[in-house]
Amino acid sequence: MLNVAVAGVAGRMGRALVQAVVESQNSNIKLSAAVQRPYSSLLGADVGELAAVGRLGVPVVATLAEADFDLLIDFTTIESSLSNIRYCAENDKRIVIGTTGFTEAQKQEIASAGAQIPIVFAANMSVGMNLCFHLLKQMSEVLAVDSDIEIIETHHRHKVDSPSGTAMRLGEVIADTLGRDLDKCAVYGREGIGEPRDRGTIGFATVRGGDVVGDHTVLFASEGERVELTHKASSRMTFAKGAVRAAEWLGEKSQIESGGYYDMEDVLGLRA
Ligand code: NAD
Repeated sequence: MLNVAVAGVAGRMGRALVQAVVESQNSNIKLSAAVQRPYSSLLGADVGELAAVGRLGVPVVATLAEADFDLLIDFTTIESSLSNIRYCAENDKRIVIGTTGFTEAQKQEIASAGAQIPIVFAANMSVGMNLCFHLLKQMSEVLAVDSDIEIIETHHRHKVDSPSGTAMRLGEVIADTLGRDLDKCAVYGREGIGEPRDRGTIGFATVRGGDVVGDHTVLFASEGERVELTHKASSRMTFAKGAVRAAEWLGEKSQIESGGYYDMEDVLGLRA
């Protein structure tokens, strides 16, 4: 049995994750603990009632030290996730991390923890989006020579990091495929009068508003045609279900490996 804890259970993703764990068809996975930030008024509440899936007999606790679990699913904040990764590494727990907005140095820290414990870390856990990442490599190889490449993303008004972690990942996939350095070729937004567009750049445009769960388009625009790769998430359950799929995969993986740093391409078997 894989005992799963969810961090940030009062959050938008936290509630969806509780529902996804409870609704998993895999009888070897069980929600064993629920964590919310210290001093939350929800501490002690039944997490099933909080997530509107019915009473589960799992009370919300303030720290991982109070939780009994094998694997943590963490979609919280940068500070909280980094602290949770350290806890998991010190206490031999597996972790699935969906939090976004980490710096390169922080991502390195997460990757290093993969030497001690099995980790799945992905800025977008949706199965469809991860297939898009895969398809994007081929599209970039074929289309980039003649195309201007732009990444356009839209999210709800509460999202604080921009461009989204997914948009940045799309940019990284394109840049890696084309042998470009994203730090040098990315252009974030445009305003005023500038130079004509340089074909070697990758443009990012960010839109924030309403309750949009997450829309991403990669536009390859050349003379005579445009090709667009678009993914639209209509419910947070798509990310939550992907995270549970990652947890199930990591549960099996850890039987043969003590550590490892993976993303959804590994989980879905899309790695070349
Ligand atoms: P949210 O603000 O609704 O939820 C975050 C929750 O974490 C809150 O309940 C907050 O109180 C809690 N929290 C903060 N510090 C904590 C701590 N120390 N201990 C326990 N709980 C703590 O945010 P959200 O919309 O649910 O998104 C959370 C993160 O997940 C963001 O970084 C977002 O970008 C990311 N996200 C990733 C994916 C993906 O597929 N990887 C999808 C959606 C969102």
